[in-house]
This record gives sequence, structure tokens and C-alpha cells, in this order.
Amino acid sequence: MEPLDDASPRPGVDYPGTWPEFLRWFGSDESCARYLEQLRWPKGFVCPRCSGTRAWRIAGGRWMCGGCGRQSSVTAGTIFDKTRTPLTTWFAAVWYVTNQKYGVSALGIQRVLGFGSYETAWTMLHKLRRAMVRPDRDRLSGVVEVDETYVGGDEEGTRGRETMTKSLVAVAAEERGRGIGRIRLERIADASADSLEPFIVELIEPGSVIHTDGWGGYAGLKDLSFQHRVTNISRSGQPAHEVMPRVHRVASLLKRWILGTHQGAVRQEHLDYYLDEFTSRFNRRRSRKRGLLFYRLLEQAVDTSPAPYERLAGGAPDPRITRMERRHKMLGALDQKG
Ligand SMILES: [Zn+2]
Repeated sequence: MEPLDDASPRPGVDYPGTWPEFLRWFGSDESCARYLEQLRWPKGFVCPRCSGTRAWRIAGGRWMCGGCGRQSSVTAGTIFDKTRTPLTTWFAAVWYVTNQKYGVSALGIQRVLGFGSYETAWTMLHKLRRAMVRPDRDRLSGVVEVDETYVGGDEEGTRGRETMTKSLVAVAAEERGRGIGRIRLERIADASADSLEPFIVELIEPGSVIHTDGWGGYAGLKDLSFQHRVTNISRSGQPAHEVMPRVHRVASLLKRWILGTHQGAVRQEHLDYYLDEFTSRFNRRRSRKRGLLFYRLLEQAVDTSPAPYERLAGGAPDPRITRMERRHKMLGALDQKG
């Protein structure tokens, strides 16, 4: 849950506002660890095993639980777990990532932080990406345009074997006046109701007005407690980008971003993380407080389970698949209710 306004973090008090301030605050791994402790345990240490709060510090910045005897550290169970990269480097990476308006590539991180290894930079960046969108994010509401778009494919300038075939991405964009409010993006298997409805049910508040074209995959929305506004593009006589301007704008920005920032070299199994990063950056595009983004990303980072390199690099099953399955169950439950 978002903190109330009066509890909002303050620049210079809760997070550094400038680069010199950053350097003063985070000069050692110990000062970084203390900072993470404040984010993870604002009311003091909580044991990950027994939830006990009686504990004491032992060597190496670790904690010993007085209740169950478990030893743990502030990075255990987070994206920083078992990392060989010093926390000072992680913090510099987070600062860099949150201060680049259009995002960064692994090569950029490698250069700026002076890593010998591209792989290390790549792994850090992907772990941070996972932390960029909160799993408990708020749902969109009001009037929301929904459409699908294809992303990727050889003809869009990707090279060699590191290409992906086209992926179908569902796009949802809130109407805010004539502009765009918040957005959500998700890779979907196909444009059937079975794929589109879970996306809408999970990411958009019931009762919202869903604005789509006349595609049959959206025909069941009324039965899912949404209001459905349909604009039949071919019959409207207007081009699609005029009738549904927001989703088309988001789709074209997304494609340009993937080509520009990542030279189009996004492998299909990583597309989900890129979609999360784009969503996070887009939804915070008006934020002038870069330091606050730094704070939020670290806050989410200590709230995120670790992702070993092997899983990020592919091979093990994609966690999103189970999310999709969960959604199908949810829809099943809705069907039974109705
Ligand atoms: Zn314990």
C-alpha cells in the first residue's frame, strides 16, 4: 500500500537528492546495508522464519533471531541475496538506472560502472528490472483503452541469432483528459478471449469502462463486470490510431524504445522484464524527483525474491506462466459465480 502523503519520503532525509549527497550517504557497504535495513524493516528487524522481532547483530552485518536462532541478513531473500557485487556498486547502478530517462542497456551499465564483465552488468540490470514493477500494483480505472500489438520480429532491425519472433502484447492505457494516464503491458499467447480477459480482469478495476475495437476476443467483457465501449474501426471510417489514440501511441513508443535503447536485441524470454521496465518508466514519466525513484526502486528491491542468473538466462520455467495459470483459475471462479 502506498504511504499516506504525510509519511512520504523526503529528499535529503529519506533519500539523497543529488549525486554529491549520494556519495556522502553510500560510501561503504555498511552504510548501504543500514539503509536497506531501514527500508526492509522500518520498525526494526523481523525474522524471516518466525517473524520474531527480538534479535541482535552478529559478525558480518548479520542478525541472530532471539526466538528461533536463525541467522539472516538484510539482503537474504532479496535481489541482492548471495551477490558477489559490493552493495556500493549496486547502489551506484540503481542511481544510474533511475536517473536515465530512457533506460539503460547492460553495455551502458558496464561502461559507467567499469565492470570487466558484460555478464555481471547484464545480470544486475535484469534483477533490477524485476524489482521495477510492484507485484501488488494498483489496477487501472476509469476509461481504459485496450488493444493488442505485435512486438519484435526480424524485420524490425534485430540481428543475428539474438532475435525474437514476434510476440503479441496486450496494451491498456487510461484516458486522462486528452492524454494518457497509467498503462499496463503484458505478453499474451494469442488474441483470444482466453488470453485477453485474464489481462483485463487482473489489471483493471471492475466497473471501469473498457474501450476496444470490435474484435471478438473482447465480446465477453460485459459479463465480467465491466462496461464495454466498442468502436468498430472499419465502420467508424477513421484510422485506428485516431479512434484509439492512446494505445497506439503507447505501442509505438514501446517499439521505438526497444529499438533505440536495446537496439532491438530483446530475446523473447526477456520481453516480460522489458515490458515491466517500460511500464514503470512510462507511469513515472512526469516525476521530477529522480531521487524518489531511487528510493522506490531500492524499496521494491528488498521486497523482491532473488532470481538466480540461470533462471534469468532462460532454461527454467518462466514464473509468468504460473501467473497466467493463476489468472485462468480466477476467471474460472468468476464463471462459476456468474
Ligand atoms: Zn526467528
